[in-house]
Amino acid sequence: MNIRQPPLSSPIEEKIAWAENCYNKADSQFFKDRTIIDLLDRLKKAIQTSHEEMKAAGIVDLCRECERNEGGSCCGAGLENKYDGWLLLINLLLNVKLPKKRHDPESCFFLGETGCLLLARHVICVNYVCNKITDRIDPQAIKALREKEGEELNTLFLLHENVKKICRI
Ligand code: SF4
Ligand code: SF4
Repeated sequence: MNIRQPPLSSPIEEKIAWAENCYNKADSQFFKDRTIIDLLDRLKKAIQTSHEEMKAAGIVDLCRECERNEGGSCCGAGLENKYDGWLLLINLLLNVKLPKKRHDPESCFFLGETGCLLLARHVICVNYVCNKITDRIDPQAIKALREKEGEELNTLFLLHENVKKICRI
């Protein structure tokens, strides 16, 4: 299978359609590959660990309060354009259902009613901390979170490379 993905500048709907097409054509090949299965498992665990660290640091509560009282402000429309087809394909492999339309015209395409709909996120989304977070959260807790996120991003990188190999067979 050699499927050329749409350029990064393509509309997000086109990139989603490409990822779904690729997934439908090759899902059995992905799930037969031991390395990919292991990396998907490792990534799920790393994402879970990062989330737990965010909770422990108080960031999850802070963001919930910010979204409730101030409408949040960090997931603006256009951020979805950072995502390429590979990253969307990895989300499908993690069982994420990609949205068909934007929930809020002023927000990122992937922001749902209860937060981000994706599991595998772009480095920009993973690393983002706003002023509220840096002002109110213990820097040591942010440092500990960064270490966990490092594992998440490294695993995502390896998965990216292996998924690409299958699509180029
Ligand atoms: S990252 Fe900052 S701006 Fe975004 S929801 Fe959390 S506290 Fe609010
Ligand atoms: S965290 Fe999710 S919803 Fe927010 S900008 Fe990133 S992809 Fe969009």
